[in-house]
Amino acid sequence: MNMEGEEKALKLYFIPYLAPGHMIPLCDIATLFASRRQHVTIITTPSNAQILRKSIPLNQHLLLQTVPFPSREVGLPDGVESLSSATSPDNLAKIYQATTLLRPPIQHFVEKHPPDCIVADFLFPWVDELANKLRIPRLAFNGFSLFAICAIESVKAHSLYEYSSFVIPGLPHSISMNATPPKIMSELLEALLETVFKSNGLIVNSFAELDGEEYIKHYEETTGHKAWHLGPASLIRRTVQEKSERGERSVVSMHECLSWLDSKRVNSVLYICFGSLCHFEDKQLYEISCAVEASGQEFVWVVPEKKGKEDESGEEKEKWLAKGFEERNIEKNKGLIIRGWAPQVMILSHPAVGAFMTHCGWNSTVEAVSVGVPMITWPVHGEQFYNEKLITQVRGIGVEVGAGEWSMMGFGEREKIVSRESIEKAVRRLMDGGDEAQKIRRSALEFGDKAKLAVQEGGSSHKNITVLIDELIRLRDRKLLE
Ligand code: UDP
Repeated sequence: MNMEGEEKALKLYFIPYLAPGHMIPLCDIATLFASRRQHVTIITTPSNAQILRKSIPLNQHLLLQTVPFPSREVGLPDGVESLSSATSPDNLAKIYQATTLLRPPIQHFVEKHPPDCIVADFLFPWVDELANKLRIPRLAFNGFSLFAICAIESVKAHSLYEYSSFVIPGLPHSISMNATPPKIMSELLEALLETVFKSNGLIVNSFAELDGEEYIKHYEETTGHKAWHLGPASLIRRTVQEKSERGERSVVSMHECLSWLDSKRVNSVLYICFGSLCHFEDKQLYEISCAVEASGQEFVWVVPEKKGKEDESGEEKEKWLAKGFEERNIEKNKGLIIRGWAPQVMILSHPAVGAFMTHCGWNSTVEAVSVGVPMITWPVHGEQFYNEKLITQVRGIGVEVGAGEWSMMGFGEREKIVSRESIEKAVRRLMDGGDEAQKIRRSALEFGDKAKLAVQEGGSSHKNITVLIDELIRLRDRKLLE
């Protein structure tokens, strides 16, 4: 019987947080464990389960368990069960509050049917207590790069919360920051990370070569904690259909999107998307539309759906799109605007896409890296400013748009607008085919190759998951002997 045989299979529970940037990668990682014939159950709420049923391959190794979402308790309409459904900061706070109320039903289920190990998002820190009570190992996940965690810890150690520009001390590279991390956000992340460090290990949706051995060593030495690079998670999706069904239901059909991209030259299209939680104000969108048009670049631009507004009048549109933009660009087939959820991994994987303007959410970043697409970086909140520096200063696979305002969240008014000139300049830098652009593109392609190798048999992530499964089996068997 080999180590991954049925008799030895582990019973694993995955508890993803209710936001696409957390849910999508952790469920792909759960699928990865199930593909190694472990018995995996994902615990989530009804409307998230509905999305998952259409986007992951459920079978005897991969099951879903639902717990009720406390909509009424917090005053939310039925079906609003993810941070990406929030339409305002108030709404966002209610969804966050609701997730804190999930503890009793999840705990009840886990205690009644204890697994061999729990893999939970760090936004459920109470899982630590539950795992200790059941005397089972717990693995943490937060969807960050290890580089970002090293940066957060270093900023904490040196209390660097008051400077608008500073160099992060003590890291393997000299990293220059051009924005101030909000103190409240940093303190929240630091507290959550303290619980991560108490777990049996951190699962990272990346591959060792992207964070780099130097950061893995730095992390292990400074925190005394073990990180497991098991990604890129998106590479588990092999067919065009699997890629297009990842996450929420797309507002464009796979065929429509594909035939548009198929009509374009290799590397000619700029893909613009700021993840699932960033909402720019109209005046910022307007600057983007002017910059894209001025650059002359063909594009796919994902703009979050305006909730509650079914049909946008011409007047409404002119608040965020330059006058005549649609006639000049969309009708002439120069660009595609996707208003709502886009099949991002499918788009990024298409050879026509030559650059990605991104908010540097870690999933978006690692998805672009996996397919060798260089980035135009525009961080907004969370740990995105650190990811930007990994992309531009450390790995040389992108250029910065020059965002300097570190927001508390994706919503709300911003003091600074990134000008159309800065945006156009960054687009041209990466798309003009000059020496710098070619060098960046070459590096991006190299990392794309490394990503694909990492998940193949013999690759770093492939080996890591084998070792991790063996380690968890060893822990379980040792407990059985006690
Ligand atoms: N995503 C997508 N279509 C969209 C918006 C987002 O498929 O229209 C996916 C994207 O591929 C990624 C996730 O949603 O997997 C967003 O995660 P990320 O960490 O990039 O950013 P966040 O949304 O957490 O800020």
